[in-house]
Amino acid sequence: MLLDTQTNLVTDQKIDQFFDPESKYTYEEYVQKAIRYVTNFLDNENFYSGELPSNLRLKNNLLAINPDSTLSIDDTLEQIKQLYLDHTIAFHHPNYVAHLNCPVLLPAIVGDLIASSVNTAVETWDQSTSATLIEQEMIQWICSEMGLPSTSDGVFTSGGTQSNFMGLLMARDHYAFKHYGLNLKENGWSNVVSKFRFFCSEKAHFSIKKNAALIGMGYDAVIPVATDDRMKMKPEALVQAIEKEKQLGNIPIAIVATAGTTDFGSFDALETVSKIAAEYDIWFHVDGAYGGCYVLTDTHQHLLKGIEQADSITIDFHKTMFQPVCSSAFLVRDTNYFKYVSYYADYLNPLEHRDKECPNLIEKSIQTTRRFDALKLWFTLKMTGKKAIGSFLEKVHYLALDLYHSIKEDLDFEIAHKPELSTLVFRYKTPEVDDNHIHDAINLYIKNTLFKSGQASIASTKLNDNLYLKFTLLNPKSTIDDLLDIIQMIKETGSNYTSNN
Ligand SMILES: *Cc1c(COP(=O)(O)O)cnc(C)c1O
Repeated sequence: MLLDTQTNLVTDQKIDQFFDPESKYTYEEYVQKAIRYVTNFLDNENFYSGELPSNLRLKNNLLAINPDSTLSIDDTLEQIKQLYLDHTIAFHHPNYVAHLNCPVLLPAIVGDLIASSVNTAVETWDQSTSATLIEQEMIQWICSEMGLPSTSDGVFTSGGTQSNFMGLLMARDHYAFKHYGLNLKENGWSNVVSKFRFFCSEKAHFSIKKNAALIGMGYDAVIPVATDDRMKMKPEALVQAIEKEKQLGNIPIAIVATAGTTDFGSFDALETVSKIAAEYDIWFHVDGAYGGCYVLTDTHQHLLKGIEQADSITIDFHKTMFQPVCSSAFLVRDTNYFKYVSYYADYLNPLEHRDKECPNLIEKSIQTTRRFDALKLWFTLKMTGKKAIGSFLEKVHYLALDLYHSIKEDLDFEIAHKPELSTLVFRYKTPEVDDNHIHDAINLYIKNTLFKSGQASIASTKLNDNLYLKFTLLNPKSTIDDLLDIIQMIKETGSNYTSNN
């Protein structure tokens, strides 16, 4: 059948938008023009324009897709500027201290541009060739920084949540196989699995519970363990919790230790916890999404002692190695553990064609089509180097400590902890008010007001049911004066609230 003339016309007009030798100069033109818009974004004064959500919605004429007409590169860039670049959040801005979003390094951006343009998919050797080698090199590099044995291995993932998912799944399937001869991957659920229990600190990331639910075991399969006043899991409480579950007839199968909790940056005592896991002969997973990269520092390496005993590790390069999202890895002590997720598909990676020379990374991943996220890390390690990364991380840690010492004696603030990493949790607590509910309301007001006005972005969290503010510091170019400016804004906004209410 012949295409109708209208289709032919559209095809003729747009076919040169494909990335190929004929479009070489158009590619350069588009990317250069886009770069100009991105550099203009860097000139935005505030971390956020403060535009109201209702006004952003009014830009529907820009947002909507018109099925009957298309735009030039210039018009499209102009639209995306008005719709997005003028109003999006600038993570590099010193007044952005909210979440675990880091400013990103230029070498990583270059790596990402190449990966996106060439569009390598890393699941099989025949789609990736040396990209597979580069991912494996990055994995071996981080495994060796962690002190894992030569049997260790890993895979890039979409983030800490997916890495933790893999950790829980493997812990479960490994226990079921080792102790009950069950092959859950092939045969599915078995009743005994309902008794399996994971243990983690009560300050562990929510993805532990969420993932337990996603693998069919439910939130109740995760036993939260009490933390001490430094927000670290209490080893004696861990042992008690394990013993208690055993008495109830449940089966402890894994301990998840956190290396850098999301809110407090606290490190569980990895070495002690690893010994408890060994004593009970159960899986030891370390969630190092936030603190794992601190293995590159002199200041914090000792806090990661014991991680070399882990059966599996989560590490997020898009949090603390200054990488654009996504860049993250899941590591295992023994490459054989990947058998719990591997699948051999006739059309992709048939088992009978398995070739050690040409590995298929799909055997290690729960994804199929997968981005070449290792490339940006490779660029970073080649051009920035691990020493500089380590020094950046030390810098943001000292910044958090500096801030802690600067406001410790201030009667307007109550501090929740002394920073172990690069967060500080505290709340505005003017002595004039003596009611926790009002303190909560004031702190929420401060956070919302500063965000909406585009002045500063601060996070909040709860501790003992009270609302606290949180600074997450990941920008090594920030100074203590930048932070004290935000502190001043907090004070002014807080005192405005009290005088108006
Ligand atoms: C952020 C975080 C996660 C989740 O990682 P994502 O990359 O956001 O999926 C898991 N654990 C901890 C401790 C984290 O801080």
